[in-house]
Amino acid sequence: MAHYELHCRECGRSWGNQPRSICDECFSPLEITYDYDTIRDSIAQGTFSREEIAQRPPNMWRYAELLPLPAGFEPRLPVGFTPLFRAPRLAARLAGTNDAQTAAQNLYLKNDAVCLPTLSFKDRAVAVALAQALAFGFDTVACSSTGNLANAVAAHAARLGLKAWILIPSDLEPAKILGTQVFGANVVRINGNYDQVNRLCSQIAEERRWGFVNVNLRPYYAEGSKTVGFEIAEQLGWRLPDNVVVPMAGGSLITKIKKAFDELIKLGLVEEKPVKFFGAQATGCSPISTAVKTGSTEIEPQKPATIARSLAIGNPADGHYAIKTIKQSGGWAEDVSDPEVIDSIRLLAETEGIFTETAGGVTVGTAGKLYRQDRILPEETTVLCITGNGLKTTDVLAGVYETERPIAPKLAEFENYLQQSLEVAEVAKEAAATVGA
Ligand SMILES: *Cc1c(COP(=O)(O)O)cnc(C)c1O
Ligand SMILES: [Zn+2]
Repeated sequence: MAHYELHCRECGRSWGNQPRSICDECFSPLEITYDYDTIRDSIAQGTFSREEIAQRPPNMWRYAELLPLPAGFEPRLPVGFTPLFRAPRLAARLAGTNDAQTAAQNLYLKNDAVCLPTLSFKDRAVAVALAQALAFGFDTVACSSTGNLANAVAAHAARLGLKAWILIPSDLEPAKILGTQVFGANVVRINGNYDQVNRLCSQIAEERRWGFVNVNLRPYYAEGSKTVGFEIAEQLGWRLPDNVVVPMAGGSLITKIKKAFDELIKLGLVEEKPVKFFGAQATGCSPISTAVKTGSTEIEPQKPATIARSLAIGNPADGHYAIKTIKQSGGWAEDVSDPEVIDSIRLLAETEGIFTETAGGVTVGTAGKLYRQDRILPEETTVLCITGNGLKTTDVLAGVYETERPIAPKLAEFENYLQQSLEVAEVAKEAAATVGA
């Protein structure tokens, strides 16, 4: 018997383990629950203690006891355990000069821009979903995607020898389309936004015996996201932060980081303390942040219009639970415009050397707003979740940088070029000073 199973989030009915995401009794979403007593025993016996976990290989499978993995599961990819580190130069810019030193001590980045194998946190969720897809006997997996999920499903399916069908909106970033095709997946571009693609995907799921990562495997998929939360706690020295800032699309990740922290508290692996959850969206697709800001508990669907395509879900499946997580924690949600997203991508790159995709720009821009609103204080330990890599969305920076005129391979030419560049920089500085005066 597995030590986990599906439970209805509302009526509590248990559904065992099967490819299913909705309760037939009350039509509410299903979620995995665990036999925590069994896990407590493992901790008491030292087989899942902090010390034992620290000895395990540096990837997300070190938290296997808290993931819904089939019996005898052998990981085939070292996913996760991405770096967590301080961001002092970014902190100084977000918190303002008076608070710069304090904020520099307390602001951290969780950098899933370098999550393997496909450079976004979606690899974590897919790794768990496909482990179950194999156990349920599917030979084909499928998903609807805003981009990163497509990359992750295609790569993991290739590794496991599964066939993959990936449905995407036709206007996705070229790098995300190519980064799906290269793994040999079948990519279907659809003239419609994500919400329309997702509806079609649900209809196909009624017809085909495939493992749909974000339909019939969704409860398993969602559990993989918890590993972001486990890692944050472990990397802070088995301590919870005061605040986390999380980008939101369907609203799943933010609720799963919360579930991860709650489980660690429940098992005594960290000390209980309040953590505020802050959600980040792009203003052009902000159904969750709008609900939080207007005090609503329900989502009003929107038509997405933003460059942050990985977050462009107008009718988020977990929106209701994301709102609840944010409100009950005493956190907040904000959103930023497309120009702010670009500025924030550049700010993170120029201050900390991290190149994130648009979703990361949304997170950094939102964090700046939250510092300015005094909702995040410089003395509080704050973690920004950077969830994806900038090399996948370079198209949004087209036109921001000029392609410089090439010069001859001669020292004199270089000296000349340098002189001119310094003069241009000086003029720009004077102009800025005049505007500021
Ligand atoms: C999917 C995605 C998110 C949001 O995830 P949800 O769990 O759907 O809210 C955030 N960042 C990136 C880069 C993503 O691809
Ligand atoms: Zn139910």
